[in-house]
Amino acid sequence: MKVLRTIEETRKASRAAGSRGARVGLVPTMGALHEGHLSLIRAAKAQSDVIAASIFVNPTQFGPNEDFTRYPRDLDRDLALLEREGVDFIFVPSVEEMYPQPSNTWVTVEGLSERLCGKSRPGHFRGVATVVAKLFNVVSPHLAFFGQKDAAQVAIIRRMVRDLNLQVQIEVCPIVREPDGLALSSRNAYLDAQQRKDALVLFRALSRVQELFEKGERGSAALIGAAKAEFQRIPAVRLDYFEIVDPDDLTTVSAINQRTLVAVAAFVGSTRLIDNLLLEP
Ligand code: AMP
Repeated sequence: MKVLRTIEETRKASRAAGSRGARVGLVPTMGALHEGHLSLIRAAKAQSDVIAASIFVNPTQFGPNEDFTRYPRDLDRDLALLEREGVDFIFVPSVEEMYPQPSNTWVTVEGLSERLCGKSRPGHFRGVATVVAKLFNVVSPHLAFFGQKDAAQVAIIRRMVRDLNLQVQIEVCPIVREPDGLALSSRNAYLDAQQRKDALVLFRALSRVQELFEKGERGSAALIGAAKAEFQRIPAVRLDYFEIVDPDDLTTVSAINQRTLVAVAAFVGSTRLIDNLLLEP
């Protein structure tokens, strides 16, 4: 596995693969890898000839009071995991390599970037769209793999690719969970034993919604009410949002008549966790 730190060497590696006619699959990550990330690598492996990944804790998607500096980083462990999965090259740029100073150009997917996490994390999706556009420009992948775990991110990247006519196929992989239902996240490492138990309320609330939906409930208000009741039983967890939205444009829907996204974000102590569920009538 080649470990590449500069844009130039990464372009070279990717171009060499492209000129051999190989399809390059890219898996962008922020590192602190877990089975969720590895599921994306395996999907990339199944669908591409050359597997590229990136590890970059992107400062522009963190707010001023968020966890950029304490975000878990363990490059040696990550590289060993990626090597074992058969990744061909990994792009590990520095902040200076990715962001020339000053940087004045941003990608904003208007109308979507302000919804869900964008409401409580202003600027977050601008940072995400910008860095993903930059990674696409550096690697020129034929395919790029993202997790359904970040459902709003998926909607925003799909829209960006469509609006900017980017030549990349976006593939979305299912959420990988712990045996008890907690969605895997690099931020789960912040949780102490009690918080780890409390964090299950996100999955419980989503499961309750799924259960009511399967019994025939279609009204968003009733489903959200039932989910919020689950949160009220765990006062240590502060709900940020629980929303039922269109998975493509992220606008709220009052009733579930087609494929619909149920999305939640909550603070467990100071750790912000997200999770979601897709419902198909
Ligand atoms: P991150 O390193 O958190 O930016 O995530 C990198 C990629 O892994 C994103 O496309 C995420 O959606 C995806 N991902 C993170 N957690 C999971 C999970 N539990 N299941 C599936 N994909 C995930």
